[in-house]
Amino acid sequence: MHKIARILVPINHIDFLDYLIPEEANINDFVEVPIKNKKLIGIIWSILDVSEVPIEKLKPISNLLGYSASANMRIFLEKVAEYNIFPIGKVAKLVIPAIVKTPKKIRITKNSELIHNIKPLNESQEKAAKKILEYKDTYKAILLEGVTGSGKTEVYFHVISKILLEKPNSQILLLLPEILLTAQGLTRITKAFGDNIYVWHSGITPAQKRDMWFEVLSGKARIIIGARSALFLPFQNLSLIIIDEEHDSSYKQEEGVVYNARDMAVMRAHIESIPIILASATPSIETILNAKLGKYEKVHLAARFGGAVMPDIKIVDMTQNKSESKWLSDRLLEAVKAKLAKKEQVMLFLNRKGYAPLTLCRACSYRFMCDVCSSWLVEHRKERKLKCHHCGYKIPIPKVCFGCKEENTLVALGPGVERIEEEIKKIFNEARVLTLTKDSLKKSSDNDEYLNKILDNEVDILIGTQLLAKGHHFPRLTLVGVIDADVGIGGAEIKGAERTYQLLHQVSGRAGREQIKGEVYIQTYYPKNHIILSLKDNNPEHFIESEISVREQSEMPPFARLASILITGSKLEQAENFARKVVSVAPLYEKVQVLGPVSASLSRLKGRYRFRILVKSEKNFNIQHYIRSWLEQIKVPSYLHLKVDVDPYNCL
Ligand code: ADP
Ligand code: ZN
Repeated sequence: MHKIARILVPINHIDFLDYLIPEEANINDFVEVPIKNKKLIGIIWSILDVSEVPIEKLKPISNLLGYSASANMRIFLEKVAEYNIFPIGKVAKLVIPAIVKTPKKIRITKNSELIHNIKPLNESQEKAAKKILEYKDTYKAILLEGVTGSGKTEVYFHVISKILLEKPNSQILLLLPEILLTAQGLTRITKAFGDNIYVWHSGITPAQKRDMWFEVLSGKARIIIGARSALFLPFQNLSLIIIDEEHDSSYKQEEGVVYNARDMAVMRAHIESIPIILASATPSIETILNAKLGKYEKVHLAARFGGAVMPDIKIVDMTQNKSESKWLSDRLLEAVKAKLAKKEQVMLFLNRKGYAPLTLCRACSYRFMCDVCSSWLVEHRKERKLKCHHCGYKIPIPKVCFGCKEENTLVALGPGVERIEEEIKKIFNEARVLTLTKDSLKKSSDNDEYLNKILDNEVDILIGTQLLAKGHHFPRLTLVGVIDADVGIGGAEIKGAERTYQLLHQVSGRAGREQIKGEVYIQTYYPKNHIILSLKDNNPEHFIESEISVREQSEMPPFARLASILITGSKLEQAENFARKVVSVAPLYEKVQVLGPVSASLSRLKGRYRFRILVKSEKNFNIQHYIRSWLEQIKVPSYLHLKVDVDPYNCL
């Protein structure tokens, strides 16, 4: 006798298929099923009396994997699908590895072997750890806040080791921004926990992913460090989640499956009834507000560990700049000179890759744009290319203007890191300069190579993008120059001000982490902007208060809910007309505003025209439910795309 089962399969829009399963199979079991010519892993979702498919047409499953999903995992899957408004088969794809083959026998590590080297905590760290551990047996979101270097990492190491030792078979998940998941970034964690850590990021192979998936499923993997998608691993006994740099925008996945890993992690912690630590020196506005409202516990570390002091922040008003260089003020250059004389390191930060963000014709004002995106081409002089940063389109740097065909009329407008490098080398021709952007890191070993160069004293001036802002600790670095603090100020992004503040704060934190007090020079054309003033006075409260009041007055999140619906198509009219049609059938509701469609600020991307609809509601309204029932009435033609983004960060 066979039973009939409905099986969740990792296929978008198919979601469930019916199969025959053996008597001993149960709900939530992982199974291998034949689909077309492939084998995939699925989960037995329910046992049926009858299927709509005639019984003789039902195929038997290929295999029972011998493991089942936890009941909590199943709830998590359902909730993720519901919250983000996507089909559950799509969530299953996040959860289930692509390769089926079951690995060899798995050996389980003993508790006593897990902890290697945990530092004793100081008094305020001890207090913080104790507070967090009060919640070790329940759901609680805890904001662990403290300036860079205050010892947050040591605190959560301590909490991890306590829970690992106390709870047999417990599993711990530590999420980090992808950029920190390098060998160098992980050395501290390896020191603390030896080889018992399991690292999950986009660089590991499908076979490694499969092995790790089984190691988590079998309970062997106890400490899992990963990028956002590690949240979807099949934990059996998850006991603690930590999200370091909780404010980091890389937790928001925007391509393909759109979700916010931080928020989904809080959801998972809630389902599992376990604590979750959100660590940051610059927590996001929504987390701060949750702490203020008492929904989250807040644990604060006040000082830098060992008495290192916060850097001295100086604002350079660029409207008064009289330097020969357009981008490097005299004050900053003087400071660089002084540091070089003392053989200390300098970092210059500019969040713009390439040489110049715009190439313009002096004669006819022609601007070089991407062929398939509505964006300017960025000059990369070293590569001799103009490149689109949205799609990778590139052309050789032109000799003549494409508009008027004149020669020698093209000018590069504005600086990127390459241009800063060029100027710096001219002024300080003896100095050893290293420029780092994401493009410099082709292999994962590159990162370590560069970091070692900096640590081994082979670099005097470091120039780079936000890659440099995060996590690193360079003992000899005592001066940070922010070339253009205005890059993110004044944009239309919901979180634009917040991100700019966080980034500049973080960059500033790179200066003077040890005995010598650091100095930071922030160049800006808006010295009175509240972001700049808060940085200057080292007064995050000031920024937070003003930002919260801006959001409240403009009825923006977290004081309201937002969702974005993006409609794209290769023909402008088709996309626009369809977007209009979608809006025209929106259910009318007092608590909801449907705004648009408008041409997105990046109005064309990779050849597709983009129209955006914004849905805004009161804070306590079930916006997902509303959007689901609205979109159920609509069939999206195959030549168009419709993408929903709940709680969008980005409205580009
Ligand atoms: P954060 O995570 O807040 O940036 P860290 O945990 O990285 O801070 O601590 C900053 C520095 O101080 C690190 O080099 C760390 O090893 C050291 N440190 C922090 N706490 C202790 C401690 N209790 N004992 C020894 N060193 C510590
Ligand atoms: Zn492009």
